[in-house]
Amino acid sequence: MQPSDMSAVDLVTAVRHGDLTALRATEAFLERIERLDGQINAFLSVDREGALRTAAAIDEKRKKGQPLGPLAGLPVAVKDALCTFDQPTTCASKMLAGFRPPYDAEVVARLRAADAVIVGKTNMDEFAMGGSNENSAFGPVHNPWDLTRAPGGSSGGSAACVAADMAPVAIGSDTGGSIRQPAGLCGITGLKPTYGRVSRRGLVAFASSLDQIGPMARSAGDCALLLETIAGHDPGDATSLESPVPPYGADLDRPLEGVRIGRVPAHFGAGLCPEVAHAVEEAFAAFRAAGATIIDIDMPHADAGVATYYLIAPCEASSNLARYDGAHYGHRAEPGRLHPAEPGGHRAEPGKGSGASGGGFESALVEMYCRSRAEGFGPEVKRRIMLGTYALSAGYYDAYYAKALKVRRLIRQDYLDAFEKVDLIGGPVSATAAFKLGEKSGDPLAMYLVDLYTVCTNLAGVGGISFPCGFTKGGLPIGFQLQAPALAEPLLLRATDRYQHLTDWHRRRPAIAARPR
Ligand code: GLN
Repeated sequence: MQPSDMSAVDLVTAVRHGDLTALRATEAFLERIERLDGQINAFLSVDREGALRTAAAIDEKRKKGQPLGPLAGLPVAVKDALCTFDQPTTCASKMLAGFRPPYDAEVVARLRAADAVIVGKTNMDEFAMGGSNENSAFGPVHNPWDLTRAPGGSSGGSAACVAADMAPVAIGSDTGGSIRQPAGLCGITGLKPTYGRVSRRGLVAFASSLDQIGPMARSAGDCALLLETIAGHDPGDATSLESPVPPYGADLDRPLEGVRIGRVPAHFGAGLCPEVAHAVEEAFAAFRAAGATIIDIDMPHADAGVATYYLIAPCEASSNLARYDGAHYGHRAEPGRLHPAEPGGHRAEPGKGSGASGGGFESALVEMYCRSRAEGFGPEVKRRIMLGTYALSAGYYDAYYAKALKVRRLIRQDYLDAFEKVDLIGGPVSATAAFKLGEKSGDPLAMYLVDLYTVCTNLAGVGGISFPCGFTKGGLPIGFQLQAPALAEPLLLRATDRYQHLTDWHRRRPAIAARPR
């Protein structure tokens, strides 16, 4: 069997038993990246040498009989929003082009300590703002199922590289759906853990009260393997939870008898593509066949989710992104272009020049900030900064931001009430299968509505998983979402694993992933 056909669980077992070397596994995936990524653009950087060096060191360790980490020899692709000291970290923004962080994100450090092999950094929407990957400053990612379509976003590169077998697993981040939605549109499995389950230290911040890192893989079993390594308390992230990390892979086989899954009738309203509705209903039927009980429930404030999210997330983003001013962090505009008397110059006083003293210096400094930000950020990031700055401004704070926080509380209460009646909530991830590149990019509101089914999970701080539950007639994957109470990741993974034992949607591969003869 080729390494790219193996599950991550089988791959690490084979390496541990000496049936496969870490080097051979790594080479196999690097070869696929070289062959396929020209068409997909899932990677912003590939660390071929570093990956081969790490893999060789793991094989050496094994030869010497030294203990191996739980992910020994497993190639992992990491979203470019996580800091890596030995590879660029750009967040798909010109603002951070060429940036090499001085340290590893906690998740990256844990992957390395577990002997995983980091093969490269994946493409994404700039600063994780978007749902199609079209907001990347380095070109969109193409969906492996149909290269003319979007892979979803913002972790589109991570989803696409797993879908095309360019990596067995990847790391994504999810602020309003960015793991689950691209997983759904690319036919893979992606888990957004409970807020605080995984350390955010070293994740470039978008909206700090919503951001969460999680695993993306071909199955629940592989997600469980990865989550076990990356989850857990980190004193370096004040919001990380102290509760112990259970063995996520240990309990997957337990049947679903007695598990109650909520179904929200309002999810099936206008706007949901009939093919998606059909596949989602079929998935509920499969869960019923697996022993679960399906119960209709109401989430009365869910329809306010998108409006609430698109206030809170931009507000937090406008604050988090203030640090990119060309002086403290980020791209700095060329000094030659900083003449204060130029049209549009900020507080420029003609005749004063841009000397290093008095008002001239100040105006040149402000000008430098303005130009650096104008040049470094793309249009969607600028839109969010303006939305957030406006909603936080003195005159509007109560009307927008404070009100959004109150609605967030109501949405959270919906979840608490629902989880009195059910153990999980099921439903669609997205209203449609993958849309065409360019189809929504000119219409921000249409793009924001793509997040209808995913944003409430983050607003409530609970966990969610998405996995394939069928295909459209045109051959595009359709995703199913399960959400669970805080820290119920074991149940999310178990329910998904049970479903994946009854069905084979998650085993289907896009034609582009087929091996050449
Ligand atoms: N699509 C959403 C947005 O544009 C979610 C992004 C995310 O989860 N990072 O904000």
